[in-house]
Amino acid sequence: MKLMIKGLEDERFHRPLRLIANLFFEESDIVMENEAKDAEVHIAFELSMDTSVHVSAKLQDLNGVNHSAQYERTLGADLTEKEEFKQLKHAVSYVYLTVLQDWTGVRQKWGILTGIRPTKLLHRHMQNGYPLPAAHQQLKEDYLITDEKIELMQRIVDRQLAVVPDLYDLQKEVSIYIGIPFCPTKCAYCTFPAYAINGRQGSVDSFLGGLHFEIRKIGEWLKENNVKITTVYYGGGTPTSISAEEMDMLYEEMYTSFPDVENIREITVEAGRPDTITPAKLDILKKWNIDRISINPQSYTQETLKAIGRHHTVEETIEKFHLARNMGMNNINMDLIIGLPGEGLKEFAHSLDETEKLMPESLTVHTLSFKRASEMTRNKAKYKVAERDEVEKMMEMAEKWTVEKGYEPYYLYRQKNILGNLENVGYALPDQESIYNIMIMEELQTIIGIGCGAASKFIDPQSGKITHFANPKDPKTYNDSFEAYTQEKIDILNDLFLQKQE
Ligand code: SF4
Repeated sequence: MKLMIKGLEDERFHRPLRLIANLFFEESDIVMENEAKDAEVHIAFELSMDTSVHVSAKLQDLNGVNHSAQYERTLGADLTEKEEFKQLKHAVSYVYLTVLQDWTGVRQKWGILTGIRPTKLLHRHMQNGYPLPAAHQQLKEDYLITDEKIELMQRIVDRQLAVVPDLYDLQKEVSIYIGIPFCPTKCAYCTFPAYAINGRQGSVDSFLGGLHFEIRKIGEWLKENNVKITTVYYGGGTPTSISAEEMDMLYEEMYTSFPDVENIREITVEAGRPDTITPAKLDILKKWNIDRISINPQSYTQETLKAIGRHHTVEETIEKFHLARNMGMNNINMDLIIGLPGEGLKEFAHSLDETEKLMPESLTVHTLSFKRASEMTRNKAKYKVAERDEVEKMMEMAEKWTVEKGYEPYYLYRQKNILGNLENVGYALPDQESIYNIMIMEELQTIIGIGCGAASKFIDPQSGKITHFANPKDPKTYNDSFEAYTQEKIDILNDLFLQKQE
């Protein structure tokens, strides 16, 4: 779809124009007036700003069909140039979405929101003591979010506050993410740092050396400065790709180096790929009191697993689930993905039926997204995926199923290029929610990333300002530079936590 835009020459508008067009069209091309020869639709904007911002948009297609929309709001006093422009951008997105919705007949349930964490908006209102009906009204009017999604946000936020009643007071603690970048094989939709482990023992050894170093140093800093850990999460890759002995040494390091490990609220280890789970590894997890794990089927249709490069069987997922359960794992998460290649309502219904037989404590329902760097995106034509309507139906099916089985949604996030512009939702049986998932989604406390590809998110305990910091993704670069990366993180921690406590 080629769209010609008139009246928005400032390049800062171009990104939101593109993101919103992508909500409606598989492929969209935004061009300005002078390059517009073969555009299928023309949209002309008029902008003005004094004490209020006023924006209008007029859409006309090749058949002469017209749609128009207006937006007007009074501007707050003493806004900086940047804040004023933000308001203008918001107004442009608003009218642009409105005319595209009218023209296509497609209603975007998340309105103009293209960001990852919608629930943050609601938390912010609640932290500021805003009455709920007014907060909902504002989300609806400002962002054009539908009632259905606002209700979902509220259910999630309520659940989060029930699970973590001190959620708004945890900014002086931290959570830890530990990234282990190895997997048995690489899945086709994956963009995580995940390297096939076979034949790489040398690289694994050096990586673990670096990881132990980071755990020791960060642990030392936390102890010295009396900073508590709320949660620890081992992700990757697949943290159970390494051997049972390596896991044992790693958790021993965690217990020795981190402060007060016995009182950490939750320690999770992703064991996503069932082909990595063995009785010996489950014994090690038990030995160190780690009882939250993730075993990820993604789908219960064998051809799908093969098509996406997951070299394990459906039976293996089920068998490893029972093994973990029988060995005492009492908090197991499972992930499903809606819209995998070749899958429709039938296959997804089958995945839900199989899930019902296992009843994991939590279930995360993802919607497939075409991430830029994945094999699937590079060879998109090879992978046939469901249409928007069917994806929506599968999502509704998941919602209905979770209600019937007693699961509650407790976190959600969205991604770019996600099928049907939908979301990923984490559901859990009562009191089985992952606290780490809430912490990472709502960005209310610092997460220190340790290991390969681990992203740290430092949240200023006073202002809430976020500083991002990423460890290198590939093991070789990590192995060459982990000392410097550790020191950089400690410098940021000193800056944020020490001065502020004085
Ligand atoms: S198991 Fe997970 S991390 Fe590993 S390759 Fe597959 S999607 Fe990526």
